[in-house]
Amino acid sequence: MKLSQQEKNFNKDFFGHPAGLSTLFFTEMWERMSYYGMRALLVLFMTLNLQEGGMGLTVASATAIYGLYTGAVYFFGLPGGWIADRLIGGQQAIWYGGIIIMSGHILLALQSESTFFIGLIFIILGTGLLKPNIGALVGQLYSLEDPRRDAGYALYYMGINIGSIIGYIACGWLQVYMGYHWAFGAAAIGMGIGLIHFRLTLYKLGGQAEFATQPLSPSGRKISQLAIISCIFLIGLFTVLILSGSILIDPILFAQYIAIAITVIFVMYYSSLYFLSNLNSNEKKSLIALFLICIASTLFWAGFEQAGSSLNLFGRDYTNRVFGGFEIPPSWFQSANSFFIVILSPFFAALWINLGKRLVKPNYGIKCAIGLIIMASGFIVMFFAAQAASRGLLVAPYWLVTTYFLHTVGELCLSPVALSAVSRLSPKRFSGQLMGVFTLTYSIGSVVAGLVAGNFNPENFEQMPNLYLQISLFSILGGIIIAALATLTRKWESLLEEEAELLQTKA
Ligand code: GLN
Repeated sequence: MKLSQQEKNFNKDFFGHPAGLSTLFFTEMWERMSYYGMRALLVLFMTLNLQEGGMGLTVASATAIYGLYTGAVYFFGLPGGWIADRLIGGQQAIWYGGIIIMSGHILLALQSESTFFIGLIFIILGTGLLKPNIGALVGQLYSLEDPRRDAGYALYYMGINIGSIIGYIACGWLQVYMGYHWAFGAAAIGMGIGLIHFRLTLYKLGGQAEFATQPLSPSGRKISQLAIISCIFLIGLFTVLILSGSILIDPILFAQYIAIAITVIFVMYYSSLYFLSNLNSNEKKSLIALFLICIASTLFWAGFEQAGSSLNLFGRDYTNRVFGGFEIPPSWFQSANSFFIVILSPFFAALWINLGKRLVKPNYGIKCAIGLIIMASGFIVMFFAAQAASRGLLVAPYWLVTTYFLHTVGELCLSPVALSAVSRLSPKRFSGQLMGVFTLTYSIGSVVAGLVAGNFNPENFEQMPNLYLQISLFSILGGIIIAALATLTRKWESLLEEEAELLQTKA
């Protein structure tokens, strides 16, 4: 087949990848800049007292709200993906999602309590619409047999983390030296740049995801539009009632209920797939192996997501941040995660390949258990740091940086491995749904992380070392149990592939 010059450009224009990847790379880079730049400041802003322009919330309430926010961002990725597939297509979802996100950041920049919560809701809904669809569009740039796909995703992941670094550094600096107003405003500008870039380079996508891939019938469309409008109306009504004080909500209790509710949704969905979907015995065993990965993922994010909450507060209140007259903004510490991802990703990609060549092939379950245990060891570092802090010392920044290093190594062992496990252990006809269900583990983990961080009580900081020790021991125990069970599920992880190979040889 002969390709026209234009088609050739679409195919190979961005570090040997389709030109469309540059559109998605930079759009997502700016979106992540705005997301992490703002997110890094949320707990700091909510716990800052009123006189200093903050919201004066207790640590427990602020971290519960933070956990709800981060959990909701992942949860709304489910309807976001559905809306793109069934109604408007990926391109529109990214465009409108970005506009909603930018409006949310503008509302935050106004810095009043009522616009603050509405702003957060906008960012949740916008990110739910943009994030899963931009990620899926990356895959759609490659044909099924294109060997560049994994490298394309690795490049895209770099974009995510470069954007995060810019966000942490820029918004963090603005917060300390110019105020929250400017920092939130910068997040809005970042998303704005992303939107302009997306609009101007849209043509590079060559019409990919321009329309819904599985459009609904006209009547189905009407019903779902009505359902979406009703949901938005209900969310709006709920917000107005809370803000006007007509209903009182305890954020901690609310977060507990939400964590339980999402867990129940997860378990019900998973068990209905297991029991009611006519799976054969290989598919069932494969789903059990995947369930183990889901538990590892939930525990992992419940610890890892302390980054924006308890670790962030530790950076602000108990870490020495002044060097030669320069005050390191607290949120800069969080950028360590993104820095380490950029530096360590190539090393990890090579590590799995080399281990494979030496016939050391840890299975998914073991890799995830190792990731969980390494993440947990980061909290042992925090245990020692918190002991020094509880004696009234300001600790050196390298404690937090070491913790983030261990968290990043854990992330690289678990996160990409778990995603790949979902795609390989899911029965083909349910792979999309299972990816959505798997995302709920991020959601549950994030809400639980907020609740756990609520115990980080600055008034009672003798408890701090214990808190970190408990998180650490709990996660290590979880990791050991998962590793033990993973030796049992090891065989089950390859059943689907063996079945497919058998079918192929028969055919
Ligand atoms: N940091 C990555 C991102 O923002 C991954 C986060 C996650 O998988 N929970 O996309």
